[in-house]
Order: sequence, then C-alpha cells, then structure tokens
Amino acid sequence: MVIVLFLIILISLFSITHWSLKGYRKKSEEDLGNEGEAKVAASLSKISEYNAIINNSYFSDYAGTHQIDHIYISRRGVFIIETKNISGSIKGDYQDAKWSAFLGKEIHSFINPIKQNEGHIRVIERIIGNRYPIYSIVVFARNNAPYGFDGVINLYSLKSHILGYPEQIESGDVMDISALIKSAIDKNLNHERHVNAIYERERRIENGICPICGGLLIMREGRYGKFLGCENYPRCKFTHRVKKRHSFLKGNLCSWL
Ligand SMILES: [Zn+2]
Repeated sequence: MVIVLFLIILISLFSITHWSLKGYRKKSEEDLGNEGEAKVAASLSKISEYNAIINNSYFSDYAGTHQIDHIYISRRGVFIIETKNISGSIKGDYQDAKWSAFLGKEIHSFINPIKQNEGHIRVIERIIGNRYPIYSIVVFARNNAPYGFDGVINLYSLKSHILGYPEQIESGDVMDISALIKSAIDKNLNHERHVNAIYERERRIENGICPICGGLLIMREGRYGKFLGCENYPRCKFTHRVKKRHSFLKGNLCSWL
C-alpha cells in the first residue's frame, strides 16, 4: 500500500515537472530574444562617444516588414546589429539558409543571421541612401559566436569592435541619420503584427501570388535550380527559391527575434 502510494506521488511529481518544463520552454522563446536585446542595448549605452542608438525598431516597405534589433550611429558609421541569444555550439556558413545551435541532443535552427542582417542593411540603405558607411554586426549575447565570420562577434567584444572603426562622418550627420531612420519607423508594427505579416507573405507565395506587387508567380529555371518569379518581371524583381520553400516556417519564431 505504502509503495503504491509512493509510486503515485512519484509519477504525478514527474508529470508536473515535465509539464511545467514544456510550458516554460514554449513561453521563453520570445523572452530569450528580449533578454538578449536588453543585454546588447545596455552594452551599447555604455559606449562613451557621440552617438545615437535606436533599439527594436520596425519598418515596412515593398519588400515586407522588418524588425531591426539595434541601430548604432556614431562618427564611425551606421551599425546594424542583430542579436542572437541562443545556447549551444553554433554551426553554419555564409551561404546556408539556416544555422544550427547544438546543445546536448537538441538541435535548434534559426535563420542565417548574416543573411538576415543583410536584409536589414538593405532596409536602412533604402532610407538613408549609400552616402554613409553601413556595417553589419551579429552579436551572440551568450558569447558563443562561431569563429571566423566578419562582423559576427561576442557580446563582450561589442564595444571594442565598434570603437575599432575609424571616425569618418561628420558629427552633424549622426543626428541627421538618426532622425531620418526614426522618421521611417513604422509605429503601427509590433512583434505580433510583424510575425503575422511574415505568415501572410508566405501564404501569398503558397497561393502563387507575388507578395510585393500581387502579380502571379511563375516557375522558372535558373542557375541554382527552380525558382518562383513574378509575372511582372523586370518591373517586379521578386523571386523565391523553391527548394525547402516552407521549411523555415516550421522553425521556431525566435528565427525572427
Ligand atoms: Zn511582383
């Protein structure tokens, strides 16, 4: 009798912890992103030079909606910063669509942050033009940045990395650039709407509709295999690789954080 009771207690304890652990993991995806961004924002705020910092801003343009973790502007240039707050050993290469974090038996994949940030740079270029130097920085907030990629660094070296660039723009331009970028921020966007817009964009592509101009998508054959192109090419340059086309949606939402 005592043994049976003991077993029942043990089983229920196990299922409660198991259940709450699962719940914890689910809710923490977005929290982890925010936690990493808070660390990077704090680190940027400690850089003592004339600067402007824009944290967690949203933009929408013809290419879709975009969330940029941090924009740091000083006489050294415009730094577009993507933060990753993921545990484990990070593996990936320049050309990979996704990178992976290996933690024990778990593998967690996320959008290649170098490519992700290239997209962010194009957003900022469309706003401020190409008169000023714009640099990409991918910061690993847990100091587990993979080795050997330009601009992919650990949180502890963020400050020295930025201060390593030469001063090359006028101090008056710093505030002008900041004001220009701030004026382009889409204040109606937030995390939820941004994620919804990404799903909506994917839904359109699945239905064969160009997410940029609403034209029909046509299957084409290119140097790198089959891809979907817009019927309004060359006016609309939207393309979408067919290989693994929906795989990124199956990943976690933290891919966008
Ligand atoms: Zn189109």
